[in-house]
Amino acid sequence: MTSAIMPTYARQNIGFESGEGAWLTATDGGRYLDAVSGISVCNLGHAHPAVHQAISRQSQKLLHTSNLYQIPLQEALAAKLASLAGMEMVFFGNSGAEANEAAIKLSRKWGADNGMTAPLIVTMTGGFHGRTMATLTATGNAKIKVGFAPLLPGFIHVPYNDIDALQQVLAAHEQVAAVMLEPVLGEGGVVVPDAGYLAAVRGLCDAHHCLMVVDEIQTGLCRTGRWFAYQHEQIIPDVVTLAKSLGNGVPIGACMAQARVSGVLQPGQHGSTFGGNPLAASAALAVLQTLQAENMPARVERLGQAMLAGLEARLAAQPLVRDIRGKGLMLGIELTMPCAGLVADARREHLLINVTAMNVIRLLPPFIITDEEAQMIVDIVSRVIERLAEAAP
Ligand code: PLP
Repeated sequence: MTSAIMPTYARQNIGFESGEGAWLTATDGGRYLDAVSGISVCNLGHAHPAVHQAISRQSQKLLHTSNLYQIPLQEALAAKLASLAGMEMVFFGNSGAEANEAAIKLSRKWGADNGMTAPLIVTMTGGFHGRTMATLTATGNAKIKVGFAPLLPGFIHVPYNDIDALQQVLAAHEQVAAVMLEPVLGEGGVVVPDAGYLAAVRGLCDAHHCLMVVDEIQTGLCRTGRWFAYQHEQIIPDVVTLAKSLGNGVPIGACMAQARVSGVLQPGQHGSTFGGNPLAASAALAVLQTLQAENMPARVERLGQAMLAGLEARLAAQPLVRDIRGKGLMLGIELTMPCAGLVADARREHLLINVTAMNVIRLLPPFIITDEEAQMIVDIVSRVIERLAEAAP
């Protein structure tokens, strides 16, 4: 089939026309259990009534004005997010990359305000922060940068989960404005750092007077069994970015900041036409209300533990499986060989999964899956891995 869409994605040969809860219906009528959630976007499942009602009501009243004016729904959303995250103020954009762009600009401006002439941002090897020029530069994956030189100056990468390496870089450079990292690597292969790592990074940032920027775009809003993954370690970063699940499919991103840095970007220094418009804000408010009403962190933690235990019971002795890991409903099964083909195998069994970092099956089911659906995911994933093992040389 010829397509008028630029070939930036290697798309699978399937499309969907409707969804309900954890299930998607394809254009040919087939039903698929969704363990991807649009890469941790539709975390309340598809066609959630609270989101549907909020955006349908709002679309009858007002879609958009401009950030030239007061937007009461955006104010309410910012206040709620800030209080959940332990932050003071929020800037809204439309995507993860934009949320991170705001965080990068804020960090550089904070550095400049504090006398830095060439502020540096330290990020992690294996980390992912987006596809714009600044977020691509921040991303610690050389492959996706090929062809886009010259990249931005002012970024240094250190190995993830290596506190000594970070300490050395901070000691060697005087003008570090920020350390920016994911609390669990998502695209990098569901890499969960050692317990205490995030708290140690917080300590180093304090000791070296630089900001700690946590990218919660994939992990935020209950995915790991806490509202924010940094809350597993009782720390508060200076800046936190969000996007993906905030609108359950309605595009919205957020860059949140603690009191001491929330006034760094002043009128004229950053902006977004659409960011936090009434439609997106109404969706995000409905998402937060639903997560709260259903005590979602506890539900995600329980379901995640059950799935992890189920996967371990079935696969721990499987020689093809190198590691089974995760936090909450962000689960990774690392194989000893590349396994992108398992996506099609699982799809043949009417399950949608994702493979990242070549050999890691990534499971990001919606939080509303039932115990039975969680078990179905475990069964099918185990089955396709066992079949691969039988066929492997
Ligand atoms: N940061 C993280 C941790 C992500 O996982 C992603 C997307 O996968 C992004 C940033 C970029 O978000 P977006 O694709 O909305 O620009």
